[in-house]
Amino acid sequence: MPNYTYLIIGGGMTADAAAQGIREGDPAGTIGLISAEPHPPYNRPPLSKGLWKGEPEESIWRKTAATGAELHLARRALGIDVAAHTVTDDRGTVYGFRKLLLATGGTLRRLPLTSDQIIYFRTLDDYRRLRPLAQQNLRFAVIGGGFIGSEIAAALRMQGRDVVMLVPEDGLGARIFPGDLSRFLVDYYRQKGVEMRMGEGMASMDMRAGNCVVRTTRSQEVAAQVVVAGLGILPAVELAEQAGLRVDDGIVVDRFCRTSHADVYAAGDVANFHNPSLGSRIRVEHEDNANTMGRLAGQNMAGKPDSYDHLPFFYSDLFELGYEAVGDTDARLETVADWKEPYREGVVYYLKESRVRGVLLWNTWGQVDAARALIAERGPLTARDLKGRLPQ
Ligand SMILES: Cc1cc2nc3c(=O)[nH]c(=O)nc-3n(C[C@H](O)[C@H](O)[C@H](O)COP(=O)(O)OP(=O)(O)OC[C@H]3O[C@@H](n4cnc5c(N)ncnc54)[C@H](O)[C@@H]3O)c2cc1C
Repeated sequence: MPNYTYLIIGGGMTADAAAQGIREGDPAGTIGLISAEPHPPYNRPPLSKGLWKGEPEESIWRKTAATGAELHLARRALGIDVAAHTVTDDRGTVYGFRKLLLATGGTLRRLPLTSDQIIYFRTLDDYRRLRPLAQQNLRFAVIGGGFIGSEIAAALRMQGRDVVMLVPEDGLGARIFPGDLSRFLVDYYRQKGVEMRMGEGMASMDMRAGNCVVRTTRSQEVAAQVVVAGLGILPAVELAEQAGLRVDDGIVVDRFCRTSHADVYAAGDVANFHNPSLGSRIRVEHEDNANTMGRLAGQNMAGKPDSYDHLPFFYSDLFELGYEAVGDTDARLETVADWKEPYREGVVYYLKESRVRGVLLWNTWGQVDAARALIAERGPLTARDLKGRLPQ
């Protein structure tokens, strides 16, 4: 039986960051990593951005092997026995551990239909399937107007492809952007040549003469040769549930990334943690959180305790527009926009009970720490106080 001082379930960015963090606290303890993917850990953000703009595929690899971790790839952990300190995978291999990290990330939301024709975009293999198709003169239907849908539609259009987006909401990024910005983006995408079908989702799909024919929620038909879906993820908590760990919108962890069992940790997209600046529990599906929390969880596992008080930021690119954002950027909060040039450059503040809870830095760079400091301020703050506050 392989027996490790540290065992990590998951092969994403959090898992890699944790292996690096473990090494900062313990140069000698053995590390095992079990990943359902056939590849070693890699950076996911370039799959919908940099790789479409000419960055080479080799640039995405993380350097997990340099930590000395043994990688068990293309294997799925199926069960954890926390009392025995063992994990069993889908080939029947049993692994022993002293400390375990769950970095299982998210499971894709899928449409309620079975079809091999739909590319649910999350992994390197999804990218490798889509990329050669994007070299051909085909028509692409992109389902969903969140991060992945918006980025993939832009990436495909920038290759000169014919793209139609089906978005159930009235705007793009409607969950985070204020309504006017979200609707501006629809016009912006139209100007870029993307056909935008707003307020319309996918209801079902048929294959006709080699074409995918999508029936929309408004009973319309949209034909395309390739369908790409970006519908978001659900935290992959099944293993944690089965092991009897506390789960509530993700695996619940304390400030040291420990789950309800002292020897089991969780981090990254799957972890639900308390953030002191926001004064609430959150779960974050972004790169900065994966890297920072993963590393800190690894350090904590290796006996270098530190609490996770970091407020992660996230970012995205939409054609020539780009942004960074921090905190709670929920479009349902009160928002105050301070545009230098409307919808091209400016800052949007998200307020709750006269405190800034989130900041969207729209084509405004180098302000993430200043935004964090603003979120940590007790307030009260009004729209008038915020105008001109950032950039500093
Ligand atoms: C295309 C794309 C673009 C993105 N762009 C951005 C961006 O621009 N900015 C940003 O901030 N964030 C971005 N993100 C989000 C960011 O990449 C994620 O937050 C980050 O990858 C989360 O890492 P993770 O390791 O926690 O989870 P995941 O990346 O989901 O990794 C989880 C891993 O665990 C494995 N696994 C799950 N269950 C098991 C099991 N039972 N046994 C074995 N292995 C298992 C999975 O196969 C997977 O390898 C993007 C994500 C995608 C998909």
